[in-house]
Amino acid sequence: MSSKYLNLDTSVQYIKGIGPKRAEILVEVNIENVEDLIRYYPRKYLDRSNLVKINSLKKDQQVTVIGKVLSREKVLGRKKRFIVMVGDGTGILQCVWFQGIHYIQNAFKVGEIIAFSGKITYYHGPQLIHPEYDKISEEGETDPLHTGCIVPLYHSTDKLRRKGFDSRGFRRIIQRAIQALDSKIGETLTQFIIKKHSLMSYSEAIHNIHFPESWNKLKQARKRLKFEELFYIQLYLALQRKKTRISGQGIEFTKVGDLTSQLVENIPFELTEAQKRVMREIRQDMKSKEQMSRLLQGDVGSGKTIVSLIAMLIAVENGYQAALMAPTEILAEQHYITIHSLLEELGVKVELFKGSKKSSFKKDALERLSRGEIDIAVGTHALVQKGVEFKSLGFAVIDEQHRFGVMQRAVLGEKGNNPDVLVMTATPIPRTLALTLYGDLDISVLDEMPEGRLPIRTIWRREDKKQAIYNYIRDEVNQEKQVYIVYPLVEESEKLDLQAATNGYNELSERIFPEFTIGLLHGRMKGEEKEKIMQDFKAGNIQILVSTTVIEVGIDVKNATIMLIEHAERFGLTQLHQLRGRVGRGQQKSMCILVTYGYLTDTAMKRIDVMTKTNDGFKIAEEDLQIRGPGELFGTKQHGALNLRIANLMTDQHILEQARQEAFLLVEEDHTLSKKDNTVIKQTYQKRYKGKYDLIRVG
Ligand code: ADP
Ligand code: MG
Repeated sequence: MSSKYLNLDTSVQYIKGIGPKRAEILVEVNIENVEDLIRYYPRKYLDRSNLVKINSLKKDQQVTVIGKVLSREKVLGRKKRFIVMVGDGTGILQCVWFQGIHYIQNAFKVGEIIAFSGKITYYHGPQLIHPEYDKISEEGETDPLHTGCIVPLYHSTDKLRRKGFDSRGFRRIIQRAIQALDSKIGETLTQFIIKKHSLMSYSEAIHNIHFPESWNKLKQARKRLKFEELFYIQLYLALQRKKTRISGQGIEFTKVGDLTSQLVENIPFELTEAQKRVMREIRQDMKSKEQMSRLLQGDVGSGKTIVSLIAMLIAVENGYQAALMAPTEILAEQHYITIHSLLEELGVKVELFKGSKKSSFKKDALERLSRGEIDIAVGTHALVQKGVEFKSLGFAVIDEQHRFGVMQRAVLGEKGNNPDVLVMTATPIPRTLALTLYGDLDISVLDEMPEGRLPIRTIWRREDKKQAIYNYIRDEVNQEKQVYIVYPLVEESEKLDLQAATNGYNELSERIFPEFTIGLLHGRMKGEEKEKIMQDFKAGNIQILVSTTVIEVGIDVKNATIMLIEHAERFGLTQLHQLRGRVGRGQQKSMCILVTYGYLTDTAMKRIDVMTKTNDGFKIAEEDLQIRGPGELFGTKQHGALNLRIANLMTDQHILEQARQEAFLLVEEDHTLSKKDNTVIKQTYQKRYKGKYDLIRVG
């Protein structure tokens, strides 16, 4: 087939210059057909206006310089290196490589025009060491920058480059593809949406994203493509939401009676305004016929448990059962103890379901559950196993929901007949991300901490200050305070984690604090052992609790006021914040000590810095988003769905809100996408997006 007759779904092999071998390499960057290719958007653009001339370079300046390769030379000797001299008519720049010479020596030819980017140093004149480079043109070709063009640069890898897919290579094949497709590029949004939001047409946007006619056109093209990208994610979410809303009716919980008011009277504190507001939101949902699916977001310690408990009690008062699922046994256990102690005298039957096998459940508890003699079931993911049957599950709570997969959440919901579902998370999510990750749920936020909480002081110390830290801990424990000492994740290996914590435990109990009672807690312990340790810690019989990250979520011991995190450089920000949230839960001053070892990378330094500066979970989440990017947050990276091509959840909030509104409106009016005007959307959605998002929330 000649490239003249390309369609969007034609394999890239039909483009002149791409054979089976080169096509195979492109699969690595998810390019299989012509459409993938034209949607491989540039990462950066150059034109003459954003270049720096060699004669005006300054030390430490971050620059892109374009010039002609004048010479290339391998220098042998003690410090082997490869040097490329580059000229742009105003001066000469040296580019130097100390590593990867074997490869780099074949990357340039004299006479080629190359863009080099990096930080300027000086050594007998301006120098770039290991610069990024992009070939602009070969000897004899016209240099597109000279003709006043804006030149796109594409993401590439060494492997791609070796097969000729550097920026120049991509530019050429994409240009061919666009020319061959011409009028077949078509449209992906309705005219209604395009007009309403003054968007550029798809075809014009594709042209201009790769080969911008002007900076202004490029800006419009970017806006159009961002809108489209976000629109289809929101469409997926809107359709999901519609699906839960129309698949049968939910339960109307009409009564709020004595039990609930007694509970509120019995708890030893007044609900915060935020708790009251969220309660009203949940109440509203529960009263309505529609099935509730609501996300409750609230920083560590904001008091989500009691909110969920009141809601569960409303379900119980209306004759239904409720379930609370937590991600770890320790947390399930703790919830059980709290709930049991609050509800026992109200005559509400609470039972704990744990252990990873059904056989380990008490048989009679299962029977009572299915007969409806248990009102509230608290447990781990064991609750969603086969064989666990409720008589009438009406309300399901999933705590620390980011620890569960969508499947497990869905299954708990299926144990009842369209029960209301409340999922809770202490991982604060910036609004843009929440709208993307959980956009099919309603969102409530606990944005106020219970009164009297003192801010936790966070300090950073290097390992050589350990003695002083231990002295401080000794003083505090002597004043009846309790301490957590956490050892980190070692390369995702539970076994090594355990080793680190066990070694720490031995050293602390034998050598450092022989006078104190020290406990060890880790994920591999048997249920009863864990329980015993937690109870002893809560009761104050254990003064220092050494642990792996199993205590990361949920644990609530008010008298614990010091959190020492070993190897803090190995933890992510969210995790550090969660761990810190284990202290400062009572009325006493608390302290979090981050101990680091050895050299810190820039990002580790940044994380430590953020932690010592703020206690605000939302700020931390925003920083985390900055540092890691949304794809890596919440374990979504491997699914790729949030690796947006062009939109940026940090900066494109405005476009996101518009796209969301449009998508939800569309689904409101035509949730089967069968109106004639919406054909283009249905087709694009099915072809491009369907199935891709199903896994995005498996965390
Ligand atoms: P999280 O939102 O992190 O799950 P919890 O529900 O565990 O927080 O609550 C943290 C602590 O704060 C608990 O000990 C709880 O009893 C207490 N608490 C909850 N609400 C209030 C309130 N309104 N006033 C005082 N203490 C509260
Ligand atoms: Mg909690």
